[in-house]
Amino acid sequence: MIEGLLNPWIRNLVPYSSARSEFSGSAEIFLDANESWEGESPDINRYPDPFCRTLRKEIESVMGFRSDMTAIGNGSDEIIDLLIRMFACPGKDCIMVERPTYGTYSVFASISGVDVIDVPLTASLDLDIDAMLMAIRNSKPKIVFICSPNNPTGRVYPLSSIRKIADANPGITVVDEAYADFADGFQSAVSAIEDNPRLVVLRTLSKAFGAAGARLGILISCPEIQKVFMKAKPPYNVPLPSQQAGLNAVRNIEHVRRRVAETRKRRKDLSSFLSSLPYTIEVFPSEANFVLFRVPDAEALYGYLLGKGIVVRNRSSEPMLENTIRITIGSEDEMTKLKEALCEWSC
Ligand SMILES: *Cc1c(COP(=O)(O)O)cnc(C)c1O
Repeated sequence: MIEGLLNPWIRNLVPYSSARSEFSGSAEIFLDANESWEGESPDINRYPDPFCRTLRKEIESVMGFRSDMTAIGNGSDEIIDLLIRMFACPGKDCIMVERPTYGTYSVFASISGVDVIDVPLTASLDLDIDAMLMAIRNSKPKIVFICSPNNPTGRVYPLSSIRKIADANPGITVVDEAYADFADGFQSAVSAIEDNPRLVVLRTLSKAFGAAGARLGILISCPEIQKVFMKAKPPYNVPLPSQQAGLNAVRNIEHVRRRVAETRKRRKDLSSFLSSLPYTIEVFPSEANFVLFRVPDAEALYGYLLGKGIVVRNRSSEPMLENTIRITIGSEDEMTKLKEALCEWSC
């Protein structure tokens, strides 16, 4: 079923066979990978585990994602890129995205010579399900990307809507759940993979897990797609220090929970603060670790904050997001300084 959706050259791919994929047991002496017999720090002279087995086992026990359904990418970025290259034919196929959303889906498609169909969100920034179903019928995208909670709006889409689209879509539906940990009562699409093996979920250790610098994205899919991903990815795609950093981040789940709780509290606090500012036009409800709000002149406010040494994101160039600014939740101290600066702007 999945096989028929793959690009034919991926279906028939003979993967590179690395030293560490040919032999992964324990031994006293390793003379098989042309590594140096000595390195500048412990173990760094050795190639990393091509399949991130230890990290995936830890992810299974802490996060509950079965390890035969997970793979680790060099950031979600690498997974997005590879999924497009696995399923979409350059110069022929297209992918579909909601708009506005995270920009990398479109960019990676363009780099691969794959067209992008944009479906605008509704005026209330929800998925336009009818328009998406119609675009699926008309354009037959090989992959539909849905980001929930959505960046930059902070909106969670009901699982029932996502299932409706994924079930009607004969191609792959990718649900990017990068901000899932911050959402209240979040219903993950992972539970729906069993019924619909064309559904793929992305998670990342870059946000709630605090490991953006390590570049660790998680693919969660049916075992069939997971196996193809393992064949199609670069042999040693996740560096050893990153695998170790990921292991630490996942093992310290208590730290993650504390950070998430604090982030959510500050998100609530920042949202009501922004609402109270005399110049705020609109604060968008957010289930992520950022808040989007609208002001009369976003460019002026952006420049003013920059002058105060505070960098935020001006999202005004996105359709429907004219004059909006996205602010990431920072530390207590950073939020205090931000609020002081925002207060002064109004006077
Ligand atoms: C930040 C973010 C990611 C994370 O990407 P990584 O490459 O894993 O750091 C993924 N998806 C969305 C929508 C994001 O905003």
